[in-house]
Amino acid sequence: MNLSVAVVGAGPSGFYAADAMLKAFSGSQIDIIDQWPIPFGLVRFGVAPDHLSTKNVTKLYEKILDKPGVRFVGNVELGRDISYEELKSLFDVVILAFGMEKPRLLDIPGADLAGVISVTDFVGWYNATPESKDCGELVSRARSAIVVGNGNVALDIVRLLAKTEAELATTDIVPAAANAIVRAPLNDIYVVGRRGPIESSFSFPELSELGDLVEAQTLVDSAYLPADASSAEESVRKKKERNLRVFRTFAGNSADNRPVRIHLMFYASPIEIIGQDQITTVKMSRNTVVEGRAVATNETFMIDADLLVPTIGYELASIEGLPSLGGVVKNQDGRVEPGVYVVGWARRGPTGVIGTNRVDAREVVALISRDAPTASKPGPSSLDDVLSARSVSAVDATDWRQIDAAEIASGGSGRPRVKFTTVDEMLRVTKTKVAA
Ligand code: NAP
Repeated sequence: MNLSVAVVGAGPSGFYAADAMLKAFSGSQIDIIDQWPIPFGLVRFGVAPDHLSTKNVTKLYEKILDKPGVRFVGNVELGRDISYEELKSLFDVVILAFGMEKPRLLDIPGADLAGVISVTDFVGWYNATPESKDCGELVSRARSAIVVGNGNVALDIVRLLAKTEAELATTDIVPAAANAIVRAPLNDIYVVGRRGPIESSFSFPELSELGDLVEAQTLVDSAYLPADASSAEESVRKKKERNLRVFRTFAGNSADNRPVRIHLMFYASPIEIIGQDQITTVKMSRNTVVEGRAVATNETFMIDADLLVPTIGYELASIEGLPSLGGVVKNQDGRVEPGVYVVGWARRGPTGVIGTNRVDAREVVALISRDAPTASKPGPSSLDDVLSARSVSAVDATDWRQIDAAEIASGGSGRPRVKFTTVDEMLRVTKTKVAA
């Protein structure tokens, strides 16, 4: 009998884990289960719509989907359609690869005002995550926006907000989102880091891209910039020096006649969001860094803004029966309990790039090999029985390819695709399943 494996989450870490399992346990039957009727998780819902070359990695995942023994089981949600306990009883090995979907939020007065948009709502809106909030109305009226956090997600959001109609036209952004961004009378976008430029988590290519925008200019006050990157740890010093060179270029810019200004600000944190029904102004504290931590000084200042998006990280969604520890699924090197393992962000936290998940998955599969699981559980056919008894419309790889083809066809000659934004739309085009 072959090993039965359930991988929960069809994002990068799930595909890398499935592939490594196939190599380690040939002949295994692997179900890659996902809550959405479409695979690829973070590549589809996280990677920015203008970073199309990054999305080419899905060609590799498509090949994994085509391998004998691998099935895509979409539109099936752990905790809604099948419980964690049930999954464990059906599969010899369960690999949790569901990432992190909850946004980390600011805990300051006014954080619930309209115009304060969580990172998952904002990215979900332009990347077509089903059930996302429509941010179009707020965005289309914004003159000034603040993005809190100094990571690559902040840069994605700022870059998209600053792009022109022509720059967005060849991306896979939701057309209505592109429309709202283009209509917005945005003049000023502030990217605010609580610590300094050396401590920022920006990657060099993403930071440099801010210098290539057609109608936006990126500005930095040179007073923020240290003489060199010697304060950085040696392992990252070269990267920090490269970033510092980009910051210096921005500091050398003087405001020209381009309509959008991107202000990179450091050593500052929002402490109060002010407005009646909607955000109008944000009170900021000026920070200093003490032993690597941002500490507020008594100095404060104000920024007028109609939008504020905190991009300060993600949290684990809770799943019944699955304990967490330190913000991730409780695990030791990827082992959760006998027969259950965790990979990706759910294992190590929301860090790293897509390729990090390949290394991560290989490590965990090596651990599974050492644990030497045996085949004794019923596997995929029993999952089908449970789902059909519950009238769950599971979607397979053939269905996904129908959805894929329909989206690509809607893209026409300019866009790579127009994504469906609801599960019903997706199910409607599948060959075998019809939305209830
Ligand atoms: P991130 O890189 O961890 O950045 C989070 C930022 O939020 C940091 O600057 C952090 O500052 C700040 N922060 C955290 N709590 C805060 C608070 N309470 N107040 C103010 N600032 C706070 O996370 P991310 O941007 O969400 O990205 C997640 C992962 O995806 C990262 O590994 C990233 O590189 C990756 N990613 C990659 C790409 C790409 O390769 N193109 C694109 C998008 C995302 P401190 O440093 O002071 O904690």
